[in-house]
Amino acid sequence: MRGLIVVTPTSLVQAPRHLEPLRAAGYEVRVNAAGRLLGEAELAALAVGARGLIVSTEPVTAAVMDRAGPGLRVIARYGAGTDNVDVAAATERGIVVCNTPGANDVAVAELTLALMLALARHIPAAHDGVRQGRWERPVGMELRGKELGLIGAGRIGLEVARLARAVGMTVTYCDPVRRPDAEARLGLRFAPLDEVLAQADVVSVHVPLTPATRHLIGARELSLMRPGALLINTSRGGVVDEGALLAALNEGRLAGAALDVFAEEPPAPTHPLVGHPKVIHTPHLGARTREAVARMAQGAVAAVLDVLAGRRPQHVVNPEVYPAAGGPAAAGTGPRA
Ligand code: NAD
Repeated sequence: MRGLIVVTPTSLVQAPRHLEPLRAAGYEVRVNAAGRLLGEAELAALAVGARGLIVSTEPVTAAVMDRAGPGLRVIARYGAGTDNVDVAAATERGIVVCNTPGANDVAVAELTLALMLALARHIPAAHDGVRQGRWERPVGMELRGKELGLIGAGRIGLEVARLARAVGMTVTYCDPVRRPDAEARLGLRFAPLDEVLAQADVVSVHVPLTPATRHLIGARELSLMRPGALLINTSRGGVVDEGALLAALNEGRLAGAALDVFAEEPPAPTHPLVGHPKVIHTPHLGARTREAVARMAQGAVAAVLDVLAGRRPQHVVNPEVYPAAGGPAAAGTGPRA
């Protein structure tokens, strides 16, 4: 055996054919048998002796890396966001951190549209009503002609914009990076955050969670939204201030919110947004389609094989671990040999 690869994402563990290339290359594969997201201590215990980790959104801390031991060379995020990985700690240790951006844009964007329609037509409540023997028929809202405010126009945000345009919405976006091609191709309008919030019928958030975006949507931002507007968050729970969202819903300022993500996952059953009559929620389902699973698996497995074979993988989150061309490493001593 050439070494141990630890694999935690449940949707990948359930599709073991995607792990065959690792075994075929001579690696031992140890999977998360718990069938759920692991805590830090559980991940650390599983990671002992690993050369590579393929992870979901578990906390991949310095302690986890140290518990894995000096053989750990690569951490591959099965997905796009890397907010759960202590990238600085990995860089200090010469561990390459990779992700699979672009593998789940369609899956997350389609879920976002589904949540938008479900909110606009009260589908979850209507479904529950029929099931419980009530024939209540809530009056909803059409999306055509409504304004979508996009916070973040990266891969997922732009796919959401494409779908929203297809159902006849207008789209205004904010992003530190201006997207002139998409503006022309999809007819998007660019505006500062406050203007996007103030004009939208539906606001959808698609930014990574970083120190700069934590609580990007807080009490001030929610107060700028139109009365009766809807908020959708399929990015990361920490981007929206959950306490401020609860207040905006309870005070009747927002008509509803759809959440695929929570600040802490899974949220406690007593979490005030769970089961709230104006909230619909899904359990971080964004990337969970067969197609996205296959793309994320292929990307994460290829990244691990690349690093362990001394090749540079396609998507490196901490390129500082690689020495600059023709020069010394910018930080540390380069990837662990
Ligand atoms: P991306 O990097 O392609 O796009 C993110 C965009 O956000 C970039 O254009 C960036 O410039 C912009 N941005 C950063 N800070 C901003 C700010 N303050 N205001 C406005 N825009 C800002 O990433 P992506 O692939 O589109 O994914 C976005 C996020 O979605 C990921 O980081 C991840 O957290 C989340 N995600 C969730 C799921 C899920 O299962 N629900 C799945 C995949 C990704």
